[in-house]
Amino acid sequence: MANFARQIVLLSGTRFRGDPLLMDLLRIAIQKSGRLSEDSLNLFKECGIKFDSGTGRLKTTSNNFPAEFLFLRDDDIPGYVEDGVADIGIVGENVHVETGRHVEVVKKLGFSKCRLSIAIPRGESYGGVQELQGKAIATSYPTILGNFLKENGITADIHEISGSVEIAPSIGLAHAVCDIVSSGSTLLANGLKEVEVIFRSEAVMIGSEKLSDAKRSILSKLLFRIQAVQTAKNNKYIVLNAPNASLPEIIGLLPGMKSPTIVPLGTEGWSAVHSVLSEEDFWDKIDALRSAGAEGILVVPIEKMIY
Ligand code: ATP
Ligand code: ZN
Repeated sequence: MANFARQIVLLSGTRFRGDPLLMDLLRIAIQKSGRLSEDSLNLFKECGIKFDSGTGRLKTTSNNFPAEFLFLRDDDIPGYVEDGVADIGIVGENVHVETGRHVEVVKKLGFSKCRLSIAIPRGESYGGVQELQGKAIATSYPTILGNFLKENGITADIHEISGSVEIAPSIGLAHAVCDIVSSGSTLLANGLKEVEVIFRSEAVMIGSEKLSDAKRSILSKLLFRIQAVQTAKNNKYIVLNAPNASLPEIIGLLPGMKSPTIVPLGTEGWSAVHSVLSEEDFWDKIDALRSAGAEGILVVPIEKMIY
C-alpha cells in the first residue's frame, strides 16, 4: 500500500496537464542543423518550453508543454507538414514558397532574414532585367526564379543545382546565379555582384491545414507565448526622473501599456516616471524626453510582455 501510494506521488510529480498519455501532442518540425536551428530552439526556450535537443536526436518530447519535436532537413519540413507527419514547422519563406506545399503560414518569426538575388560576374555591366534574356542562370530555387522571370517577360535557361551555386559562372556552367544573400560576402568572394533582389525571406511558422481542435488549442497557447516574447523584444522598460512641471509633456511621449507610473522622488517637486518604449522610434523619443526635461534615464530589456 505504501509503495502504491509512493508510485502515485512519483507519477503525479512527473505528470502535467499535457501528458502524452492524457492528451494530444503538437508535433513541431525544426531544422536539425543549419541557419534556422539555433534561433528556432531559442524561440521555444524563451517560451518556457523545455526539451532535450542533444546532438544526434531526431525526436524528443517536451517535459512541460504538450509538444513533440522532430529534427529534420529544412527542405523536407513543408512536405512533412502537408502530409500531417508534423503539425507545424519552422522554415525560411524561401523554402516554403519554393516547395509550394499546401500549408498555412501561421506566423512570421523575424529571424533568418535574407534575400534571394540574381548575381553576375563583377566585371560585367548590367542595364536591367532584360539583359538576362537567353542567359543561363544557376539556382537551387527554380520555382521562385521562374516566377520572377515570367513576371518580367524574360526567357532564360534555368540550371537547377543543389549547392555551391556561386561557383557556376567561374566554371562555365552559367552566366548568372540566383542564390540566398545576407551580407553579400559569399558573392564577393566568388567574383560576383548582386544585380536583382527577387525575394525577401524570414523564418516562418507553417502549419497543417487540417489540425484537430485539440492541436489547434495547443498551437494557440504556443502563439500566445510567442507573441509575448516578440512584443517584449520590440519594447524596453524605461525609468526616468523629471521635474513635475515637465510631467504632462513626458506622459504624452510615453503612453506605456495603459499609462505611465508616476512616483514622487525624495526631492521636492520631482517625480520618477516608469513606462515602456517601443524599439521603433526609440532614439527620437529619448531626444524628445531629454528636451522635455527628463534626467537619469534608465532603459532595461523586457523578458515577456502580456497585454
Ligand atoms: P539543410 O541541411 O537543413 O537542408 P540548408 O543548407 O538547406 O540546410 P541553411 O543554409 O541552414 O539551409 O539555411 C536555412 C535557411 O536559413 C534558408 O532557407 C534561408 O531561409 C535562411 N538563410 C540562409 N542563408 C542565410 C543567411 N546567410 N543569413 C540568414 N538566413 C539565411
Ligand atoms: Zn536545405
